Amino acid sequence: MSRFLDKRLQNLEKYTPGEQPKNTGLIKLNTNESPFAPAPEIMNIINSSEAEKLRLYPDPDTKELSEAIAGFLGVKSENICTGNGSDDMLNFAFMAFCGTEKGVAFPEISYGFYQVYADLYNLNVKKIPLKDDFTIDCRDYFGLSRTIFIANPNAPTGIALSVDEIERILIENEDVVVVIDEAYVDFGAESAVKLTKKYDNLLVVQTMSKSRSLAGARLGYAVGNKELIDDLKLIKFSTNPYSINRLSSKCGVASMLDVKYFEDCCNEIIKTREFLLDNLTKRGFFTLISSANFVFTKHRDRRGSEMYDILRDNGILVRRFEKKGIEDFLRITIGSQSEMEELLRVLDKMEENNAKNS
Ligand SMILES: *Cc1c(COP(=O)(O)O)cnc(C)c1O
Repeated sequence: MSRFLDKRLQNLEKYTPGEQPKNTGLIKLNTNESPFAPAPEIMNIINSSEAEKLRLYPDPDTKELSEAIAGFLGVKSENICTGNGSDDMLNFAFMAFCGTEKGVAFPEISYGFYQVYADLYNLNVKKIPLKDDFTIDCRDYFGLSRTIFIANPNAPTGIALSVDEIERILIENEDVVVVIDEAYVDFGAESAVKLTKKYDNLLVVQTMSKSRSLAGARLGYAVGNKELIDDLKLIKFSTNPYSINRLSSKCGVASMLDVKYFEDCCNEIIKTREFLLDNLTKRGFFTLISSANFVFTKHRDRRGSEMYDILRDNGILVRRFEKKGIEDFLRITIGSQSEMEELLRVLDKMEENNAKNS
């Protein structure tokens, strides 16, 4: 830290992204990426003529991309703001709608970035505990008079709220913005996008990083009524209007247009998730019911840190959180079927070694 850093930022605790290991021999199940390639058309459109065009600025309005997203979602392109990953959209929403007096509310166990943004903007935070079964009780969010952020499905639990429950939260908070972060919605939860036509206080944020295999392209977007979206664009055009590069924009369009490939990939992940969940249960793990591309699971008697180390020593990287109440859980990304089989093989080997040694 230099002696010039603003006092306000000196104690900021930055977000710790999941490890991106140099050792590519590892089976990487720690950051919820897709095991599948992005839409096939993407391989054709990133060619030398597109590379040549990189000397030109991209379209700051991302017209083609916004129209493709809007077409897929059944909204108008004026209802879409695009950004450099959905983290960009969440950042803009924290900047735009929270203010120091109003403050924010989000679940105590949720996406770690919410706390970082709240600290970055010095916001007053109310963290709402989950119920004992790790679910969110929508009634805990009624009448809070704070901007609300909810990941649905929640992370790292994978548990989803229904759209009816989200609608109740909206009705009970008509004077504040409710942001629903749908990073994992395509893996079996119901999207709240349709409610954006009815409620002017709803902002839905989605990403192409997980279900569209484009984490490296950095593409996210917010959906909401035109006034809310214009507020986000105000911030976008006051910071970096060119945040989406030409190549990523092309990739995003191609992904949105290939609906079948997208659905096939999601269905495959869901099928593999159910396979993994069944097999973890058979092996005595306690696993939450997931609507995401990961499971949140706990060994019946081994510590989370021990499980993490055993898996890592056997070439499998997962994620765990040093946080009270969930420290013994592992968050395991749903990879390919063969990666899941390898994971189960490692777990079986662990139990065999255990039986031998006791
Ligand atoms: C992965 C994730 C994001 C961020 O996604 P990007 O679009 O890659 O920035 C946002 N919210 C949640 C809950 C996530 O898990």
